[in-house]
Amino acid sequence: KVRVRFAPSPTGPLHLGGVRTALYDYLFAKSQGGDFVLRIEDTDTARYVEGAEEYIMEALEWCGIIPDESPKHGGKFAPYRQSERREIYDRHLVELLKTDYAYLAFDTTEELDEIRKEFEQNGDVFAYNYVTRNRLKNSITLSADEVQKLIAAQVPYVVRFKMPVDRVLNLEDIIRGKFAVNTNTLDDKVLVKNDGMPTYHFANIVDDHEMEISHVIRGEEWLPSLGLHYLLYEAMGWEKPQFAHLSLILKPEGKGKLSKRDGDKFGFPVFPLNFKDPETGNISKGYREEGYLPDAFINMVALLGWSPANDREILTLEEMVQEFDLHKVHKAGARFSKEKAEWFNQQYLKLKSDEEVLELLKSSKDLDLSNSGDEKLLKVISLMKERATFPKDIYEDGKFFFEAPTNYDEKAVKKAWSESAKSVMIILAAQMANFSFSAEGLKQEIHDFAESQNTGMGKVMMPLRLCLVGELKGPDVPDIMQILGKDECAARIQNAVN
Ligand code: GLU
Repeated sequence: KVRVRFAPSPTGPLHLGGVRTALYDYLFAKSQGGDFVLRIEDTDTARYVEGAEEYIMEALEWCGIIPDESPKHGGKFAPYRQSERREIYDRHLVELLKTDYAYLAFDTTEELDEIRKEFEQNGDVFAYNYVTRNRLKNSITLSADEVQKLIAAQVPYVVRFKMPVDRVLNLEDIIRGKFAVNTNTLDDKVLVKNDGMPTYHFANIVDDHEMEISHVIRGEEWLPSLGLHYLLYEAMGWEKPQFAHLSLILKPEGKGKLSKRDGDKFGFPVFPLNFKDPETGNISKGYREEGYLPDAFINMVALLGWSPANDREILTLEEMVQEFDLHKVHKAGARFSKEKAEWFNQQYLKLKSDEEVLELLKSSKDLDLSNSGDEKLLKVISLMKERATFPKDIYEDGKFFFEAPTNYDEKAVKKAWSESAKSVMIILAAQMANFSFSAEGLKQEIHDFAESQNTGMGKVMMPLRLCLVGELKGPDVPDIMQILGKDECAARIQNAVN
């Protein structure tokens, strides 16, 4: 059975790259009729960030990426939080230590610093590996007796992986194909720290095995670890899953990895939800709070590195599941585009019914709709929806529907207002009593009015728009008039001419 896990570390909020990994994990699992598992990798206590786990869960939920198994949902392989799985790692560590693939290292930080310095003086980079391990204090260089004594004296030690010497590993990745690595380029990674906590590499392999994970789909930053992970499976005598490493999400200008700080720099969020840093109190902006619709956000993220058939762009999560093909995920990095993100939101906003948009506006904390009235709001939504990117645009760009202008845009006044415009408006206000106030009828009526005044349509429409809106923007004037109603239109013209 296909089982895919998303395994974030709670070291901060989930960013765009993390959301995409989770989404592809989910899409692949579901496209194969498999399970999607959320596992929290929290063994690195030093990097733990308060609230990050809750954030990750809430963000996935907002995106509609719902795990079949997780710390919250439980499941057959619970617990799903690594900090609660210590005894499982301990048990497997005993097995690992019986093999020739792991050893105990007793070196102190000072000892390691010293040898590192020596390397640097010679212009070399120090690595704990097949060369240096023979010079250091570990269970390879010490006698069994000495090792026992150190353990008895409670001298702290770590467990390291004994990287085989000069072996060529043939690795395989679903997206990148086959490639080879020589083990001499790899170091003896720490598997268990001196407090007994497993590191990422060990806990990750144990859990992927224990949780019967069939496919590991993760970010490309883990590609250099693939050789070690292959050997860990070999050491434990376990069948390994298949691997797929996703390329980076690139900055808008296409150069370099999109970083957490780029959001502020380029003026777009890189996080799904607002995140308040518990240490600094700084708030990083999220897509949700910026007014993005979750379906639009997820659609945008899905297309950062994957192209559905026939260049289709608008897909629901369900449709993505139908279409998703891991082999069609791009090898090259995907460039993020704020314009594209906004375009997606616009498309999804258009697809919503007026009633749905009304609900969105009402649930927005920043807007005060108390005096607006649902009936009028619905009319405004229906008129303004097409040109809005965010729900709040509808309210902000349509504010004049709810508040008469109190001042008039200077440039617009220069362009549209004059003594003659003013007198035309005064006559118009008087004649408006006879207008039908249906959008179609109004167009004709204003036309006839202009003719009767021996003037052009523009000479009526522009000053009229200025009176109603306060500037020369907005939808068609008859549409505006129809929503405002006869009395309000007349009042606004009176206001302007006085
Ligand atoms: N905990 C790792 C991370 O935060 C998971 C990497 C993996 O998927 O193997 O990225």
